[in-house]
Amino acid sequence: MIYFDNSATTACIPAAVEAAKKYMTERYFNPAAAYAPAVQLEKDVSSARAVIASNMGADPSELIFTSCGTESNNTAIFGSLKAMRGKGRVIISAVEHPSVYEAAMDLKEQGWDVRLAPVDITGKVLLNELSGLLSPDTRLVSCMHVNNESGAVNDIDAIYALIKRTAPECLLHVDGVQAFMREAPVRCDMYSVSGHKLHAPKGVGALYIRKGVHVKPYLLGGGQESGFRSGTTNAPSIMAFSAAVADYSEHRAEYREQILAVKKRLLSDLSRIRDVKLNGPDIDHAAAHILNVSFMGVRGEVLLNALSEKGLYVSTGSACAAHKRGRNRILNAMGITGERQDGAIRFSFSHFNTPDEADRAAALIEEQVNILRRFRRR
Ligand code: PLP
Repeated sequence: MIYFDNSATTACIPAAVEAAKKYMTERYFNPAAAYAPAVQLEKDVSSARAVIASNMGADPSELIFTSCGTESNNTAIFGSLKAMRGKGRVIISAVEHPSVYEAAMDLKEQGWDVRLAPVDITGKVLLNELSGLLSPDTRLVSCMHVNNESGAVNDIDAIYALIKRTAPECLLHVDGVQAFMREAPVRCDMYSVSGHKLHAPKGVGALYIRKGVHVKPYLLGGGQESGFRSGTTNAPSIMAFSAAVADYSEHRAEYREQILAVKKRLLSDLSRIRDVKLNGPDIDHAAAHILNVSFMGVRGEVLLNALSEKGLYVSTGSACAAHKRGRNRILNAMGITGERQDGAIRFSFSHFNTPDEADRAAALIEEQVNILRRFRRR
């Protein structure tokens, strides 16, 4: 098997598995309980919070744990707007993940003035277009840090400065699910992350909420997470998340180099095939782990299935959007349409991948693309 779908999810590292196991079998207490081992567990969760927060450039008091990136995004959007009086404008980039896009569509139904900020052909938000949309009544801008389909990296610091200059009351939420640990921390009001994209298990995420920003809780109950998010603390997954972040932090440069080497090798190998187009920024300006290319004259889903039969796992778009029928909303917004959109495949890498896998994958792809193109001409 060659797994090139690490933007969909990643394999857990052994340290994360060990941490989860320990907190499921030995230290399984409820940290809200009063006896000594539970109190110790509460301290362990606090140190996990500190590890993750420091890697976000945040104070631990500014971080709440959630169940996933989707929950972090929903909490940030609905929770911050619920804490404001009256309705106004909400701007999201035109290429947001469904967990932001669908939330925004729900707001639209509730009467909010929802606008989509256009992006360039690489998937990067156009600052002058965003500037034109910012009005005095804009309450929230939500913009992803790294685009999960094209690997485009938005200049979040510039977006934050623009917002605070033109609409000082407006909040900036950033979906950092694909960026956390891979890109440098940025300035914003809220930042969402997810464990399973970083070699921790599914079922844990986190949301940074800058001190002073008001967010109404989404889940009400026992008041865990300082009242922001009720529900018994998921200590096994939180401890695993912290272990994965600590590992990434220690090996960040090495992992990036390994991942980039695989991506460069695959792109260079694929250049042997005629009519291949790169979607997204050139290799030095994109996130290291995402590569999107179109094989002209081939249908992406047919190629995906052919490759899957041979044990090469890739994607034709974000896994979360794959079940939605119709055209690829993200590539459409980037202006990638027709044959180029139909033939688009996303490859996403982790430090578990090797250049040898890239060579073997490229040979398989070349073989299958040639077969499918021949088949298509008949
Ligand atoms: N945001 C982005 C950019 C993503 O790529 C994903 C997952 O694909 C999510 C949010 C959702 O994260 P989760 O699967 O943890 O809910």
